[in-house]
Parts: sequence; structure tokens; C-alpha cells
Amino acid sequence: MRDAEFFRRWMAAAATAVEREADRLTELDSPIGDADHGSNLLRGFTAVRAALEAEPTAAAPGAVLQLAGRTLISTVGGASGPLYGTLLRRTGKALGESAEVSDEELRAALSEGVGAVAQLGGAAPGDKTMLDALVPGVAALATSYAAAGTAAENGALATVPMRARKGRASYLGERSIGHQDPGATSSALLLGALADVAEP
Ligand code: ADP
Ligand code: MG
Ligand code: MG
Repeated sequence: MRDAEFFRRWMAAAATAVEREADRLTELDSPIGDADHGSNLLRGFTAVRAALEAEPTAAAPGAVLQLAGRTLISTVGGASGPLYGTLLRRTGKALGESAEVSDEELRAALSEGVGAVAQLGGAAPGDKTMLDALVPGVAALATSYAAAGTAAENGALATVPMRARKGRASYLGERSIGHQDPGATSSALLLGALADVAEP
């Protein structure tokens, strides 16, 4: 069973991964975007870390993720803020108020969260977005956390030959081909952080 402390560690590990990879995420966002994905997420996850530290009473897994999601929505201006914010808020809402959740409950909740991202952004796998990492990553949670991290990474790599159909990169049409999607790359970081805290 996973308690609130586990979800706090996940969010802290995600913040650390974003700090480490921020420059790379921004570089990926240069040729097919506006070169701000790393700085957007750095601002967002720094705020998430601070919000969770300021609220030690968020004592349930669902409350931790909902606070993190609200914080991303209010601090990240780009497309990724509302999308990641929705992922975490919906996942947190699906976890309910229990003090501990099972791995199966987390898998089902994350599936709902990913569904909410697809609904909000109108994208599907193959459109060269974060969903290309989130969908295979969360599907592989049925196997293990490590498998989810690997599947998300492979999903991010698989965006290179895709033509973007959503978001800023879609304005480039054919010219979006040949570049890895920044949001799929950060989604792999998020699921990689989950794998690291779940199976250290
Ligand atoms: P912005 O494009 O507003 O500058 P970011 O650079 O922070 O925002 O995030 C860009 C990433 O957001 C893209 O690489 C892509 O993965 C993701 N994204 C953009 N639009 C959508 C969408 N409609 N659905 C899912 N993901 C999207
Ligand atoms: Mg951008
Ligand atoms: Mg932007």
C-alpha cells in the first residue's frame, strides 16, 4: 500500500528530475516550439515542492496529487501546465480520501488522469504529444513501475518521426518531423520518477 508520504516523494523526485533536465527540455522545445518547456516545468515543480512543504497536513495520497495539480495549473502559463495539472488533479480525485492506496488503485486512477488529459487537449497517441509517453507508460503499469518508466521513455523516443497534430509544434506541419517532443520527454521523467520511488 502507498501512503501520502510515497506521493510526496514522487513529486519531490519529479521536481529533482525536472531541475536536472530543464535545459534539455527547453532545447527540445526550441526547434518545434517556443523554447520554454524546461523553464515552464521548473517553475511549476519548484512551486509544487514548496506547496507540499507548506502543507504537511495533506495527509492522503489524493490530497497530495490534487494540491500538486492545482499548483501546476496556477504557476505554469504554457499548454503543459493545465495538461499536467489536470493529470494530477484527476488522478488525485480518483484516488479519493483513503490514507493508503494499492498499486492497482493507483494504476486505475492514473488511467483516468490520462483520459482527462486526452479530453482536455483533444489529442490521441500518434499526435506527437505527452500522450505518446503517458498512454504506453500507464498501460505498462500493469506489469511493473519499472516497465512503465521504460515504456514511457520508448514512447518519447517514438515521437521523433511523428508529425505533430496538436499544440504549437503542429503549426510546423511536416517540419515537426525529426524532433523529439518535449512534453513526451517530460512525461517519461514523471513516470521514471514514480518508478524510482516505487522500486528503489
Ligand atoms: P507551450 O507549447 O504553451 O509553450 P510547453 O512548451 O510547456 O507549452 O509544453 C509543450 C508540450 O505540451 C508539447 O511538447 C506537448 O507534449 C504538450 N502538448 C501541447 N498541446 C497538447 C495537447 N493538445 N494535448 C496533449 N499535449 C499537448
Ligand atoms: Mg513551449
Ligand atoms: Mg510557451
